[in-house]
Parts: sequence; structure tokens; C-alpha cells
Amino acid sequence: MSYTIVQNFIPGLPKEAYDGGVGNYVGVVAHATANNGDSADGECNYESTTWQNAFVHYFVDDQKIEQVADTDYLCYGAGHTANHLGYAQVELCQSTDPGKFAAAYAQYVWLLAKLLYNRKLSVVDGVSLMSHAQVSAKWKETDHQDPIDYLASHGKTWANLVADVTAQYNEMEVNDLKLQTLILYSGDADLQIAADLAQHFSCPIVQAVYATADLLSSAITKYQVGGASAPAGVTLLAGADRFATMKAVLKSLGEI
Ligand SMILES: [Zn+2]
Repeated sequence: MSYTIVQNFIPGLPKEAYDGGVGNYVGVVAHATANNGDSADGECNYESTTWQNAFVHYFVDDQKIEQVADTDYLCYGAGHTANHLGYAQVELCQSTDPGKFAAAYAQYVWLLAKLLYNRKLSVVDGVSLMSHAQVSAKWKETDHQDPIDYLASHGKTWANLVADVTAQYNEMEVNDLKLQTLILYSGDADLQIAADLAQHFSCPIVQAVYATADLLSSAITKYQVGGASAPAGVTLLAGADRFATMKAVLKSLGEI
């Protein structure tokens, strides 16, 4: 699962480095806006005129993830200490609609995990992943308690969010270790075409009979060149003869 981040930077924001240097945030702060029915665009517009008081890096609603400030630089979202130590900060837009909440929450979880994963910070509750409530309790420079009540209004606890971000982070880690592409081929007649396709993807090839379940699970996208059928999760590129198979391969690449 992956989402698109729409960048819509607010002009004129300050470019102050974190204590650890430009780009070196040490964690993320999860917020909620306390504004039912708001949207990422609406919050972005509001923040573009009020950023001197407070601003964060991202707003997430059920439609999109909107980045309004560069995470290379600190934001003013959670008090002086957290802001300067260095936390990338994300606001969850609010809705009373369960469907809209679910859509926004999924993107929120993904973004928090991605921000942590981009810097390989792991998910450590109260350290690398903090609620605004935890920041308030730790450094006592703000008194905000978000996003706890809002999550609770949709039946989620902070512990649920930590678990969901951790699962997403782990998935990102596993996917990174995986091969992007693996090519299988059926018989000797398919070898040359399979080899050409593997060169195109810069990926390994293996004869289908030797493709173990472990090998198959180690790759994200899998093709089999030739043969009558392919294992589950493998796209079969095959025709009645060698030339029809070649045609199927080329077609899959959008060449003809
Ligand atoms: Zn907050």
C-alpha cells in the first residue's frame, strides 16, 4: 500500500534547522485538528495566513495527504523543545463520518510510518512516535491532548495507532528487502525471451520448476515467460508458440 503526497508548500515559511541539523528530525508528532469537517486544503489555506502562530508539515484528510512545509526544517506545531529537537508533524483532519475517518486514518498511519522509515527511526512509542498529548506531558510547553479524543470518537486508542504504524513500518522494511521483479521461464525455448525481459528489468530469472514458494514470496512483481499456467501471483506471458510468447512479452511492456 502506498499513497501520493501532494506538495503545496506555504510560501514564506522560516527555514530553521533542527538541533541535529537540516533534515535530521528525530521522530514524528501525530496531531488531530480539533476541527470537525475540515479538509487538508482548507487547513492549508488557513495556515498560509496564520503560520507565524503555528504550523505543521502535513495535513491528511480522507482525500489526500498534503505537505505544506519542508521536513528538512522545523515547524511550529508542538512547543519549542519538540519543534527544535526535531519532529516532523502531521495533522489528521477530522470527520464524524466513519468512512471518511477510515480513509484518512489509513493515510495518516502510512504517512507517519513513512516519515519514520525514511530516516530509519523505528517506531518507539513516546520517543520517535509521539502524540501531541505525550509532547505536552513530557515538556509541558503546550497543553494540547490531541489526537487521543478524536481517535477515541472513532473507537481507536493511541495503542491502536502505535500498533498500526508499527505494522506499516515493518511492511515497508520487508518490501525494501524484496526483489522488485523476478522472471520465471517455462522451458528452454522461452529462455532467451525471458533473459531479454530480465535484462530490461535488471532482475534475476529462474526456471519455473525451481521457483520455490520462498523465492516467489521474496519478489514483489513476478512474470512467467511461456508455459500453460503460472503459480499464484505470477503474471503469465505466454502464447501457443515461441513467437506468440514473444508477442505476449512485448505487449506486456507496451511495445506493440
Ligand atoms: Zn496538536
